[in-house]
Amino acid sequence: MADLKQLWESSLVEIEPGISKANFATWFKNTYILKEESGVVYVSAPSSFVKEWLANKYHKVILRSLRSLSENIRNVEYVVAPKGGRKEPVEDFGENKKVFSNELPLRDLYNINKEDNLNPKYSFESFVVGPFNETSYAAAQAIIKELGAYNPLFIYGGTGLGKTHLIQAIGNEIKKTDFAKKVYYVTSEKFLLDFINSVQANKISLFKEKYRKFDVLIMDDVQYLAGKSGTQDELHHLINTALEGNKQIIFSSDKHYNYIPELEDRLRSRFGAGMMVDIGEPDFESRIAILRSKVRNRNFSPSDEVLNFIAKSVTGSIRELEGILNSIVHQSQLKNKELSVAEISTLIKNNEKVKKAVTAEDVIKIVSSFYNIDKEVICEKTRKKEVVKPRQLIMYLLREDFSVSYPSIGQKLGGRDHTTVIHSCEKVKNDLKKDSVLVQELEQIRAML
Ligand code: ADP
Ligand code: MG
Repeated sequence: MADLKQLWESSLVEIEPGISKANFATWFKNTYILKEESGVVYVSAPSSFVKEWLANKYHKVILRSLRSLSENIRNVEYVVAPKGGRKEPVEDFGENKKVFSNELPLRDLYNINKEDNLNPKYSFESFVVGPFNETSYAAAQAIIKELGAYNPLFIYGGTGLGKTHLIQAIGNEIKKTDFAKKVYYVTSEKFLLDFINSVQANKISLFKEKYRKFDVLIMDDVQYLAGKSGTQDELHHLINTALEGNKQIIFSSDKHYNYIPELEDRLRSRFGAGMMVDIGEPDFESRIAILRSKVRNRNFSPSDEVLNFIAKSVTGSIRELEGILNSIVHQSQLKNKELSVAEISTLIKNNEKVKKAVTAEDVIKIVSSFYNIDKEVICEKTRKKEVVKPRQLIMYLLREDFSVSYPSIGQKLGGRDHTTVIHSCEKVKNDLKKDSVLVQELEQIRAML
């Protein structure tokens, strides 16, 4: 049961970013996986209306995300929740307003090639090269020219700096140059899950076979294998066979392998035997170049003054730069005019909180100390009023101010499910309309974040 719950929450982590907030809350609240039988996953919906809607509008995206997590899944069926069928009672908080909208999930998810998990949007045409990433770029080109030139290639750097883009672009480019080459992209989390599933299903030889048949294996975010010694062992064998067979392996990681904790020495030495390159933060000129490339296809032509201002103010990751640019494009479409530098400056300031990279830990710490309770109890299963309220506020803040997805908030707060989180956020939203003390408390808490 715990596995099915985990499977559903992980799949929702993938689904949520592609759907509007209102749609996600409306259609995925109170859903869960009832059971899995011979490759068919039964998703339970709270009403027949929601069931129909999921089946008609979201089937493709649900199936795809479940499949990407577990190979064994062949299909998804939708059922109306059986009475008393829910294993974990939801912390429910009264009436919730339903929000309907006609938006449909549009998303990259549809574009990802099922065979190799490559997304064509990550190409070299859209990849800006500057001093901050040129060594990684050069190593990538060397590999494309001659597979195995550096093996394994290990690319590391902070989040949002272009690791996924670069390694996916390598895969896309190799595919383009040589159609016969079998390329496969996988995140280390998916690899881990695949491995665990195959061990449980006694299908480890199938697993080995699958991962050994690729000419180019690209593994993203390998740092998540920290502490997973079984999977690390398997990866170590896989690298050995790949090197013998002259197959290319590419890794990305958010840090140098020396700083990945609980990594087996032999894996470390395998990484070390290949080529290690990093991606840093883009310099000012590169930021300008990135902004220019991002606005090119968007029917949006900000003045040089505006571009300079953004490039000067937003110095973090490229993802951040894109985020700000998106907000600016949206706002100026909404207002039907180009935003002034002053307006953009406000917009950037409002985004600052997200930029500060406050962690969930920080929010938990600050809120629990504000209410004078132990921060450990927040994640526990208790429903005591003095714990429930701060817990709900934490969820609300993570969602509203830091745009953390519902399922990940649940995971961060002691493995609660997404529905509980949606309920909590809605509860707080409603309470804020009538409870002026709560409004003040929230203001004070926000000031501390
Ligand atoms: P990471 O995997 O390092 O966290 P991503 O590859 O997901 O980062 O990049 C974050 C965003 O920034 C993506 O939308 C990506 O397309 C964009 N991006 C990253 N690097 C570049 C670059 N050099 N040129 C253009 N866009 C980039
Ligand atoms: Mg990435």
